[in-house]
Amino acid sequence: MVRTEETLARLTAIPELTVLTGAPLSRYTRFAIGGPADTYAETASVEAFIMALNVARESGGDFVVIGGGTNLIVSDQGFRGIVLRFTAQRILAAGSRITADAGAVLQDLVDFAIDRGLKGLETLAGIPGSVGAAVYGNAGAYGHSISERVRSVRFYDGERVRVFDNAACEFRYRESIFKAHKAWIIFSTELMMDTADAAELQKIAGDIVKVRNEKFPVTMKCAGSIFKNLLLADLPDAVARRVPERVIREGKVPAAYFLEEVNAKGLSCGDIHVASYHANLLYNGGSGTAADLRGLIHELKDRVARQFGIELEEEVQYVGFRDADS
Ligand SMILES: Cc1cc2nc3c(=O)[nH]c(=O)nc-3n(C[C@H](O)[C@H](O)[C@H](O)COP(=O)(O)OP(=O)(O)OC[C@H]3O[C@@H](n4cnc5c(N)ncnc54)[C@H](O)[C@@H]3O)c2cc1C
Repeated sequence: MVRTEETLARLTAIPELTVLTGAPLSRYTRFAIGGPADTYAETASVEAFIMALNVARESGGDFVVIGGGTNLIVSDQGFRGIVLRFTAQRILAAGSRITADAGAVLQDLVDFAIDRGLKGLETLAGIPGSVGAAVYGNAGAYGHSISERVRSVRFYDGERVRVFDNAACEFRYRESIFKAHKAWIIFSTELMMDTADAAELQKIAGDIVKVRNEKFPVTMKCAGSIFKNLLLADLPDAVARRVPERVIREGKVPAAYFLEEVNAKGLSCGDIHVASYHANLLYNGGSGTAADLRGLIHELKDRVARQFGIELEEEVQYVGFRDADS
């Protein structure tokens, strides 16, 4: 049974934990979509976070951890339970090793590395969100992903704080073991870098950010790509044969290829739109709802399934949905 009053009292008694009730989650998502959370709690303290998480578990209700909200679709009904956010942001270097707290902004980590002439994260420049979520979803761009640099990850498994090395994290394209264990909370990561000329790294990152800002204007209410790209090797032979060579990059077929083939560009549902220049980019024109967003995603998946017999998989993460609602 969910003991709301008692749970709230226990949370508010935790030092260094900020607790809000009824906070609209639209404020915490780049889509600017999402109803209220029963309870929202954030802290930069590992001890306070663990205490809050334990209270959440003992409450018998639902809980979810969010980062910067740049890859989330939150239900119009919001979240019945506790939304937790770990906000510690330290980034430290010792030689070519960097340790970053999960709540640090990924771009701050990228800049930190570049400033010190540490190579390996510069192609991630411009990816929004936190370090913790980047590890969780193995964020990446331009043929590289954060997992290439992760040496270890420190996390809480609900019982104790543990450290996994890179292999134990089971990183794959936009995947890690943490996606299969949603209650495991990442606190920090250690990264191993190479050394290089800071100015050269800055140039690479600067060029990337310029291109990205054109594709994803900073004010755009979106989540980047909605669907994961597809590994060519995983496609049924008949589908793989239909994919032109020119669209294949690093063994992957962009989801945008399939979406273009089903005329996704420019489609809308309410105030949610598929960008006219990028079929895998959905954005909120301002008054879009989660229901519209889910409706459009469903339509796109349906079209691709009907034409190609394959299922696109969302890269975005859903919060607060029960089956079939929004
Ligand atoms: C304009 C734009 C462009 C983008 N481009 C790219 C790109 O090029 N490449 C790419 O990979 N992604 C891209 N993304 C997606 C997004 O930036 C990444 O997925 C990012 O890592 C999400 O970070 P976040 O902090 O906002 O996480 P959120 O969206 O808040 O959460 C994402 C997931 O991470 C989990 N999570 C968050 N913190 C923790 C933690 N401490 N421990 C465990 N789990 C946690 C959450 O539970 C949730 O399931 C883009 C998004 C936007 C808006």
